[in-house]
Amino acid sequence: MYSKMVILRFPQTTVQKPIVCYLAKDYDLIFNILNATVLPRKEGFLVMELSGSRKNFNLGIQYLKDQGVQVQSPDQEVKRVKDKCTHCGACTAVCPTSALSVERPEMTVKFDQNICSVCELCVPACPTRAMEVRPTNKVFFE
Ligand code: SF4
Ligand code: SF4
Repeated sequence: MYSKMVILRFPQTTVQKPIVCYLAKDYDLIFNILNATVLPRKEGFLVMELSGSRKNFNLGIQYLKDQGVQVQSPDQEVKRVKDKCTHCGACTAVCPTSALSVERPEMTVKFDQNICSVCELCVPACPTRAMEVRPTNKVFFE
């Protein structure tokens, strides 16, 4: 299951349409809305976690774009400081998306940032403080 936090900005013309409902209906995606606001100029602003297959996630993002919705990643991302990581594996027990996983037979811990949902659970779980939250402002689709 792919899971990622996304920030959606709806233009004034689409704010009344049930666009997000179609993510579940047509793309089999699960969404968990964390914040929803209508801005003074009637644009909509939504922060949510979107989960499903990677293919459907990408199709759903493309659908949003086709509707005129701007899709951004959160303003934070989680990075691993490689020099600090001892590959102890503690973070893999708390990671809900398997972005952190043990590679066998080497028994090293791999970090796939592409499937990280920025839940931050690994940050306090890491004894060497190798997992860090940093600011970002990446746009998925312009
Ligand atoms: S808990 Fe920290 S040190 Fe241990 S494997 Fe994860 S990132 Fe590396
Ligand atoms: S923030 Fe850490 S625990 Fe959460 S999904 Fe990303 S790697 Fe996994």
